[in-house]
Amino acid sequence: MPNDTDLQKLIDQINIYHPQADFDQISKAYNFAKEAHEGQKRRDGQPYFVHPLSVAFTLARLQLDDSSIIASLLHDVVEDTRYSVKKIELNFGKEVAFLVEGVTKLKKLKYRLGRKEYFSENLKKMFVAMAKDIRVVLIKLADRLHNMETIGYVSQEERDRKAYEVMEIYAPLAQRLGIGEIRDRLEDIAFQYIYPEEHKWVKEISAEHYIEADKYLQKVKTVLQKSLREQGIEAEIDARAKHLYSLYKKLLRKDKDINKIYDLVALRVIVNTISECYETLGMIHKQWFPLLGMIKDYISLPKPNGYRSLHTTVFCLEGRITEFQIRTWQMHYEAEHGVAAHWYYADKKKSLIVDEIGLKKGFKVPGEILKWVEELPKWQKELTQGEDLLNTLRIDTLEDRIFVFTPHGDVVDLPVGATAIDFAYAIHTLVGDRCLGAKVNGKLAELSLELKNGDIVEILRSKNERKPKRDWLNFVKTTRAKTAIKKSLSL
Ligand code: MN
Repeated sequence: MPNDTDLQKLIDQINIYHPQADFDQISKAYNFAKEAHEGQKRRDGQPYFVHPLSVAFTLARLQLDDSSIIASLLHDVVEDTRYSVKKIELNFGKEVAFLVEGVTKLKKLKYRLGRKEYFSENLKKMFVAMAKDIRVVLIKLADRLHNMETIGYVSQEERDRKAYEVMEIYAPLAQRLGIGEIRDRLEDIAFQYIYPEEHKWVKEISAEHYIEADKYLQKVKTVLQKSLREQGIEAEIDARAKHLYSLYKKLLRKDKDINKIYDLVALRVIVNTISECYETLGMIHKQWFPLLGMIKDYISLPKPNGYRSLHTTVFCLEGRITEFQIRTWQMHYEAEHGVAAHWYYADKKKSLIVDEIGLKKGFKVPGEILKWVEELPKWQKELTQGEDLLNTLRIDTLEDRIFVFTPHGDVVDLPVGATAIDFAYAIHTLVGDRCLGAKVNGKLAELSLELKNGDIVEILRSKNERKPKRDWLNFVKTTRAKTAIKKSLSL
């Protein structure tokens, strides 16, 4: 059971990177959430509060601001307990309430199995657009991480759906936001459920290699550490194993032969300055001959998600092919924390609300992330088009709206209570007029059925001209459908 030691641990952890954090409010949120979830249990029998607390710890590891931490403690309160967003706002202010509400709304978005890539892409965009604030996405990532870590107790169907959701939405989002640490963990858990056989195989074949590689790398480490010290370079050297899912993907490209993978375990050399990175590279190449074409300078040319490091692969001790990754502490930190690493505390106002992002001075995000984050307002705008002006979607009134999909993965947004007929007219008047029936999620459905968020709707239509049915007027929800039906029937 969480106790005050946990609160102290959380505070201590935040204090390291953000001594000015509002610890009173954090303690208040801790107690508020603990009380609100009192008596609730997780499926594994643990007290529910273990979950929001774990999410808060993940965010503290990512060094997020106090509002995010507070919101993460409260993130399940609105849905699962008797407290409203209003109550959160009264107690913790607008910003926290906004973040909690964002997380709550995102719960409505669900991934469906067997959809196309295009669909995932749309869902990803919607996810981020609906989030409105990158911090909401980060809370969701941490939330999903803990849910995946404790997923042993849910039904297989639910577990599979969540695992696919992770592979299609969450892990790529973590990747795009440059948060390597979370992406790796999410992928490995999802991998285990989506490809159990393959997961077992990779785990087994890599295990013995790792044990053996580890002994060898210790030797290399000693040699390199010695020569670096002679040059006056202070370095930390770690052996770093590839995470299982990326190893699996690589094995598929290498005829499933683990002996063809040279970076199974890489040595990571962390130094203090950029020039020491290049010096270290030079020193490695002086001792061991590099493989041609395997030297990568991601410091001069960072990867699209902002990743920076020098990589080289050499014929190392005993003639073994070995990879080195060289980086500064700053680069190391950024590689693990991504967009969260660019959070500056000097100015509390420096919020990550997407409308403003990129305009804020001092908020330095690697180019590609920035570009992507800058796309968000555009996606929001795209999502707000397509309905008549009166019904224009306002993101902040999302609870009144649902998103449904065409079989091709296009998003149609509709008011709550909308039916397949509303959907048909939202696409085109002719689609509406000629509607004979509808399939919702692959099954034939009543035309008057209320659609739900994330439904996939296919309209079966007549090839010939046809008039709409008058009784449709009894259940359609959108003005657009009503007007069109009346017009076609000349009412
Ligand atoms: Mn949660």
